[in-house]
Amino acid sequence: MTEAILVVNAGSSSIKFQLFEVGRGDELNRRLKGQIEGIGTRPHFLARDAKGELVVDKSWSDGEVGDLADALDELVAFLREYVGEVPVAIGHRVVHGGPDFTEPAVVSPWVVDRLERFAPLAPLHQSNNLAPIRIVLERRPHLLQVACFDTSFHRGHPDLADRYAIPKNLYDEGVRRYGFHGLSYESIARSLREVAPEIADGRVVVAHLGSGASMCALLAGKSIESSMGFTALDGLPMGTRPGQLDPGIVLYLLREKGMSPNEVEHYLYHDCGLKGLSGVSNDVRELLASTEPKAKFAIDYFTYRIALFTGMLAAALRGIDGFVFTAGIGENAPAVRRSVADRLSWLGIELSEQANTNNELRISRQGSRVACYVLPTDEELTIARHTLRTLRAHTAESLEEKRA
Ligand code: ADP
Repeated sequence: MTEAILVVNAGSSSIKFQLFEVGRGDELNRRLKGQIEGIGTRPHFLARDAKGELVVDKSWSDGEVGDLADALDELVAFLREYVGEVPVAIGHRVVHGGPDFTEPAVVSPWVVDRLERFAPLAPLHQSNNLAPIRIVLERRPHLLQVACFDTSFHRGHPDLADRYAIPKNLYDEGVRRYGFHGLSYESIARSLREVAPEIADGRVVVAHLGSGASMCALLAGKSIESSMGFTALDGLPMGTRPGQLDPGIVLYLLREKGMSPNEVEHYLYHDCGLKGLSGVSNDVRELLASTEPKAKFAIDYFTYRIALFTGMLAAALRGIDGFVFTAGIGENAPAVRRSVADRLSWLGIELSEQANTNNELRISRQGSRVACYVLPTDEELTIARHTLRTLRAHTAESLEEKRA
């Protein structure tokens, strides 16, 4: 029977998953991609095969699939029926690995408890990411689960990039500039080796522009600086998060507006960013289609801040050879890329109008000093690779132990 790796990305009311088959030479082939959304409200299960053909489209009535455990049951039953197998390992996306987890980790109850301590640093994600891990640990304790972190790729940052200008006792406690979207940047660093070897060993700024957005400075494929810090609130403005903010504003909200810490947290994660600026939407598609001046302002603000952070990251890299756009907005919004490139023409970025409009891979024009690319990110494949590598190492270790 073929081996398969399941990749899980769990949110507050959804599980996104992908199934990879392990082929010859440990090549990973995507077999299925899907999600169960609306868990607890209006559950809906959708999955497509590698060709994009719909293989399941199922809804449940009220009261059914009421929680994550039910949703996991449905997923396992479907995998058994459709693929005829249960995965040999599960790889999970976990947003925060804190200071300790610099590599993907084999999950145990102890590891999950440690990771739960970082929940306040990623309130939108961490506990949701950990919930399915706990359920599987309880039900199938011997199934290998691997936690893959959005922070790990940045953990090699030099000390200068890792610190805030605050007394060191807080740093020792874990108050550090972690950076996020590391699984995406790792995927891009790998793609660069294949599609753009001329810059893969150079100085590249990557803009991951999705509903969460950040930027990363890659030096020879390694992250040396990020726009995000302690939490995923910092850096660029996002769909509903403000990005970089004077900490005095938080004090103002607490003291002058009488908001509680929880209210401030909710405000900063849900009511700011493009949504707060435009009053129209957090979705860039809607903002680009809107005739409201505030929608245009929000897009201008977004691209202005991307250009500002490019300056910062280029300074960390001491120059720039390449620029990459990725994620939902980066891969699909030529108007956003055009606006960013216009603001960065002084750095030597010149786009080909046609290549940009057609979402081509290389969008800089011939002779542009900085090569500019649009690369699809594949965080799930990155997780599957880590999971398979960990599985192989784990199996080798078990054999060693048995022999000893
Ligand atoms: P995440 O994985 O963080 O939820 P994605 O990387 O899928 O986010 O990006 C989602 C965002 O991408 C949407 O909110 C939307 O603003 C933007 N997006 C997707 N498609 C387009 C498009 N064709 N044009 C402009 N923006 C788009």
